[in-house]
Amino acid sequence: MLTILRRIVLEFSQASELDQALLRLVSQIKDALSTQCCSVYLADHQKQHFILMASNGLATNAFGRTSVGFTEGLVGLVGQREEPINIANAQQHPDFIHAPEVEEENFKAFLGTPIIHQRKVLGILTVQQEQARVFNENEEAFLVTLSAQLATALASVEAQGMIELCHGNQSLGKNLIGIGGAPGVAIGEMIVVHPKADLSTIAVDKTYDSQQQLIIFNDAASRTIAEFSQMSEKLKAIISDNSLDIFDVYKQLLESDNFKAEVIAKITQGWNAQSALKLVVDHYVMKFEALDDEYLRERAYDIKDLGNRLLNNIQNLAEQDQKLPEQFILVAEDVSATMLAEYQHLGLLGIVSITGSNNSHTAILAKALNIPAIMGVDYFAIRQLHKKHAILDGYAYQLYVNPGEALINEYQHILAAENLLNLQVKEAEHLPASTKDAHSVSLLINAGLSAGFEYSQNVGADGVGLYRTEIPFMNRSCFPSESEQTVLYRQVLASFEGKPVTMRTLDVGGDKSLPYFPIIEANPFLGWRGIRITLDHPEIFLVQIRAMMKANHGIGNLAIMLPMISSITEVDEAIRLINQAYFELTTELFCEEGHTLERPKIGVMIEVPGIIFQLEDLAAKVDFFSVGSNDLTQYLLAVDRNNSRVASLYDFYHPAVLRALNYIAQKSQEKSVPLSICGELANEPTGALLLIAMGYENLSMSAHSLAKVKWVIRHVKYHELTQILTQVLSLTNTQEVHSYMHEQLVKLGLGDFVHARLQ
Ligand code: PEP
Ligand code: MG
Repeated sequence: MLTILRRIVLEFSQASELDQALLRLVSQIKDALSTQCCSVYLADHQKQHFILMASNGLATNAFGRTSVGFTEGLVGLVGQREEPINIANAQQHPDFIHAPEVEEENFKAFLGTPIIHQRKVLGILTVQQEQARVFNENEEAFLVTLSAQLATALASVEAQGMIELCHGNQSLGKNLIGIGGAPGVAIGEMIVVHPKADLSTIAVDKTYDSQQQLIIFNDAASRTIAEFSQMSEKLKAIISDNSLDIFDVYKQLLESDNFKAEVIAKITQGWNAQSALKLVVDHYVMKFEALDDEYLRERAYDIKDLGNRLLNNIQNLAEQDQKLPEQFILVAEDVSATMLAEYQHLGLLGIVSITGSNNSHTAILAKALNIPAIMGVDYFAIRQLHKKHAILDGYAYQLYVNPGEALINEYQHILAAENLLNLQVKEAEHLPASTKDAHSVSLLINAGLSAGFEYSQNVGADGVGLYRTEIPFMNRSCFPSESEQTVLYRQVLASFEGKPVTMRTLDVGGDKSLPYFPIIEANPFLGWRGIRITLDHPEIFLVQIRAMMKANHGIGNLAIMLPMISSITEVDEAIRLINQAYFELTTELFCEEGHTLERPKIGVMIEVPGIIFQLEDLAAKVDFFSVGSNDLTQYLLAVDRNNSRVASLYDFYHPAVLRALNYIAQKSQEKSVPLSICGELANEPTGALLLIAMGYENLSMSAHSLAKVKWVIRHVKYHELTQILTQVLSLTNTQEVHSYMHEQLVKLGLGDFVHARLQ
């Protein structure tokens, strides 16, 4: 049963046409349960009714026409109760409604299960039978499990678009909603980009769905062979040397009995197609790499290349050598920070990512670059968006596909209003960040992307509170050398000469990966991340520290910050390595010049909750603390910052988060340790005001938020903020905090700044 269930769900989620997929779905379920009728209804939440979308057993011409109110009939009852309803004779049930057009007179037995996604009923699955009987436990369990699995695929707004179409409402095309993003509006053509297939990123897994997997593999192998023939044909017209032989070698290898048979054997052992391929390719690569003959050793590369091409076809990814339009909205399953860095110079207007949420690194980078973004769009037919026109609203996280003229005009007005507002707050840009009663704070910027850096030098910042060094590590094929890093860091330090620049040591892992250093883990945010990696690889850490210190020579504004610290041992170890790098440089390089090398300040990020209880121990070891509220929130609330399913639980204004932030501020004051914050909370006017009241002296934020935050600070009194904070800290739930802060900002005359458009 499990195999059948998996096959049904897999087929459904891979289909590109919803109506066909639903028809196939109902007949598969009907067969699996050997029953006489299976139907699927989808919810139209605007009209408050379920529409019969497909059935195998009910009248065909009722599809898309017959609807049942949310509180009507047995289907409505399943939706209202949010649980399965299993009855022997439906027609005798008090809620039964006779709908002659569906022709269900002969069916007595009825089992209906709701399809629920994130607490919302998306539809109802029903099975019916002529014989009056209660469906047995196994049948009920099957339908419940299937509904739960279908929910994710169905959550796609493709379904909503389809419902609208059934009712002749075709005016505005589809409207997709995300759960997070970066503010701003973009209007333009969408380009869908698929990641390049890479065997090294595959985590092997078994499915026991061997028949399906064999079909997938054989199909991919035939397509790959056909591609090789086409490629060599095309190239023959241009070159005529031996380099074309490589395609023959690939083809032969792919057609050879050994290679194919080994992959097939692994599939029959239960591995899924991509895992089987990875296992066989890895084995060949190992064998070739161990050979003495250099020519043969190099063939390991060819095997990997062949493996990736096959994987590409297994994953059904089209070749992407496409020409980009001058300006475009980038759409991808998972827009990574690396992709953002890769496309930002090429006319990128905005991004749409199917995965991720508001505090994913991609969203943070998008904010830093002022690129409107929508993250976590629950949509499975992503290919259909390619080359379509869209409006991306990064304030409301909405994407309008093929928008009508009226909507385009409306958004052009919003763009104009946005520009006007930016002009207003820009007036404060070069004024001090002081409240009306003269309480001053430092506003610093978060940086790390070389593009956009010039802009950030001129926004009135008091320095750089967080330089994310991992970004320059991303868009490359190997680790940058010490001299490359030195040049880069020197540019940053020199452009802020006389102002502090806090550089964070490499913080990869979690949702930030390097293409040349893949890390595959079940729980990446709880895994090998930040300082854990660099302490395990002192060769990477030392090169980076040396580069920072060399870059700082003669400028002297560098501070080094350690990410993801969870123990004092890590701090000791990191300081030992920093001292070693300092010693090496002073003896090797700088002693002859008669100069002394500047010793940078060393600080730690407070982002792992456990370390909050060791702030006193830390105070004795380091020069400053900087709170990473993005990770601190994720770890305090145990909510993956990148997971769209739990995005609504991730909230900086959760009382536990606010109280932890307040506690950190008190402890730092007690121990006289300079304190800053560099998470996204400081970007928000509401967050910034609360942090100032807690005693945070340095707020680091995206360059694009700085003027806005400064403007707000200059319009309030510190003593009003401390009163607001006292009240906020007594509240017990997140919603209360939001409403209270909303009220207070309105009272302070800052109503505009609680509106989503300005946050
Ligand atoms: C944080 O966690 O708040 C932080 C600033 O670091 P990052 O977002 O890069 O993990
Ligand atoms: Mg962090």
